[in-house]
Amino acid sequence: MVVKMIEKYVEFIGEHELDAIFKIAEKIKDLSILHVNSTKAGGGVAEILNRMLPLMKELGLNVDWKVIKGDNEFFNVTKSFHNSLQNGTGNIPDEYFKIYDKWQEINLSEIPLDYDIMFIHDPQPAGLIKFKKGNSNKWIWRCHIDISNPYPPVWNFLRKYISKYDSMIISVPSFGRDDIEIPQFVIPPSIDPLSIKNRDMSETTILRILYKFGINLEKPLITQVSRFDYAKDPLGVIQAYKLAKRHVDIQLLYVGSPATDDPEGEKVYSEVVKASEGDKDIHLLMLPPYSDLEINVFQTASTVVMQKSIKEGFGLTVSEAMWKRKPVIGGNTGGIPLQVINGITGFLVNSPQGASHYIIYLIRNEEIRRRLGTNAREHIRRNFLITRELRDYLMTIVYVAN
Ligand code: UDP
Repeated sequence: MVVKMIEKYVEFIGEHELDAIFKIAEKIKDLSILHVNSTKAGGGVAEILNRMLPLMKELGLNVDWKVIKGDNEFFNVTKSFHNSLQNGTGNIPDEYFKIYDKWQEINLSEIPLDYDIMFIHDPQPAGLIKFKKGNSNKWIWRCHIDISNPYPPVWNFLRKYISKYDSMIISVPSFGRDDIEIPQFVIPPSIDPLSIKNRDMSETTILRILYKFGINLEKPLITQVSRFDYAKDPLGVIQAYKLAKRHVDIQLLYVGSPATDDPEGEKVYSEVVKASEGDKDIHLLMLPPYSDLEINVFQTASTVVMQKSIKEGFGLTVSEAMWKRKPVIGGNTGGIPLQVINGITGFLVNSPQGASHYIIYLIRNEEIRRRLGTNAREHIRRNFLITRELRDYLMTIVYVAN
């Protein structure tokens, strides 16, 4: 008998939970489901879909995934929408709204809109709903970003579309909107404990990859894994490291990769290069997408992991590190406090000075690192594994389909 991949999750969640997933899936096995987003690789949404789709298929669901098309101009527009929705400020020319609409129309010939359930991720493809035909199918908007304090002109534009959906999903309760009538579900994202990025590795693999990238562990390693995006505060990470370095001898690793729907990355990268100049204990890596084994190695080999975001929808990198029993110093924003419970599974900070304080504290306290790491792993096992998100998605589909 071939053992299904999904059966392997029993080790983490137990038979009852897995059984529940099979039973819910049974209720929707006659429906066709399409996920639509804006990039095949790079960033958290693609990360989850790459792992979620095969599991949904194993459950016997009729599910597909399509990526919308866009040129540089379109992704500049959507990135500025993204920033203004998360930051509450912006400077958006009228023509941006026209470019956004133009690309929704272009994508009409790329994306089939007749699946029973249209699962649309984030703002980039949200406008496709204007082509929905009557009440023939159900549309869910899955929002992965912080929309608690959006820039009104962009939100009001998007809201016209969102209010046509049958329901929406947010990651954190505080992202809920009272200016929109449709049902809103809170479903935090998740990580896959069986993916190459998250499963245990041999010591030899770890040492081989560290060697390949010229990293030795003579000094404690502080790591942040993130796209080169101002919201991830890479310059704040470097500042925190430099402040801490006056007291403890450490090295910093900042690992990023490009995402096709994030055109701002190059500019941020060059600023980070400049800020790191002259310090041989700062390792800056720009890796290709799908460097999952390398990311796993870097997180596993770290003494402390940072995710010093200023804005964060959820921050999968936090769960990834916590699953590897790492104490995480996280920005006190968005989805990070769901994961980092201050003083119990890590520390929350609001400034580079705060981050530097906890770097020093953690480097000097092995026992605290160990205790936080143990709690962190258990917190992720209970709350942020892919099987929980899968179950929540299935329940949402059951809800909208009835
Ligand atoms: N990631 C990666 N390589 C990189 C940077 C990030 O594989 O160089 C992955 C990271 O491990 C995580 C995802 O991309 O799985 C980022 O998700 P997150 O929710 O942290 O942030 P987002 O990029 O979606 O804002």
